[in-house]
Amino acid sequence: MSASHDKFQQIEIISRKDYSPDLWSIRVRVEETLVFKPGQYATLGVERGGRLIQRAYSIVSSPLENEMEFFFELVPQGELTPLLFELQVGQKIWMRRQAKGLFTLDGRSGHSKHFFLCTVTGVAPYVSIMRSLALDAENAQPASLQIVLIQAASRSWEFAYREELEKLGGKIEGFHYVPSVSRPWEDTAWGGEVGRVEDIARKYLDSFNLVPASTTAYLCGHPQMIENCKGIFGRKGFAKESVREEIYWVPSKPTEVKA
Ligand SMILES: Cc1cc2nc3c(=O)[nH]c(=O)nc-3n(C[C@H](O)[C@H](O)[C@H](O)COP(=O)(O)OP(=O)(O)OC[C@H]3O[C@@H](n4cnc5c(N)ncnc54)[C@H](O)[C@@H]3O)c2cc1C
Repeated sequence: MSASHDKFQQIEIISRKDYSPDLWSIRVRVEETLVFKPGQYATLGVERGGRLIQRAYSIVSSPLENEMEFFFELVPQGELTPLLFELQVGQKIWMRRQAKGLFTLDGRSGHSKHFFLCTVTGVAPYVSIMRSLALDAENAQPASLQIVLIQAASRSWEFAYREELEKLGGKIEGFHYVPSVSRPWEDTAWGGEVGRVEDIARKYLDSFNLVPASTTAYLCGHPQMIENCKGIFGRKGFAKESVREEIYWVPSKPTEVKA
């Protein structure tokens, strides 16, 4: 299938930032504003050989910004990310005219505490939510929320939004950002938290008193982290509807070895 103009629009890359050999973000100019809620995703695509290769990407920017932003991880064996990785400022890609997704801030349960957990690029929807709260706060008094965000990455240079999130921590009352390095032996200068999300989730549940009665948990990114954390929240007494998830990929099944 090639891209049809009624379903897709072309968006132009206006800036690109590389954080490591396989992590980068872009900001894009759109033809037509995409209506979305912080936490939702867009479908991006590149045409190759008369076919549109499309995948879902959480939107990093807030709906209150004029440009849109995305944060990518290169999957060397993947179909789309090697094509996206080649693209530079001035080039165009396709974006579906409709945003999707239910991974938004829980406004239904009445919970005042929100526990955000993610691996590397899974920080994207949370950046959108936090930017939106910060931009809104300039006009209106923010609701009294407590938000704890844990992001784990192998090494600290993979925390692309660390500086911004730390600043937002100083600006938005009740927001705490905890970056955690899971391979400290590969990043000996790191002096912060260490461990994978699932290694430290219980500690922060307890230290911030994130009890099931008043907390919604959100899991975004690596499928195994999500599976492990769902077990932790289940054992802590969280109801299924209080644990939201955005699984970024389905692990490919190991090829069956025939005898
Ligand atoms: C709702 C949603 C939001 C998403 N948001 C983002 C985002 O903000 N940023 C982002 O980079 N990705 C995001 N993804 C993942 C994205 O949609 C693609 O799956 C990813 O970019 C890989 O695409 P690809 O075509 O290069 O690889 P594919 O051809 O789709 O996959 C090739 C193989 O690699 C595996 N794989 C896919 N991704 C990874 C990975 N990251 N690490 C290890 N193995 C992997 C697949 O299981 C498959 O076996 C999101 C996915 C969903 C469902």
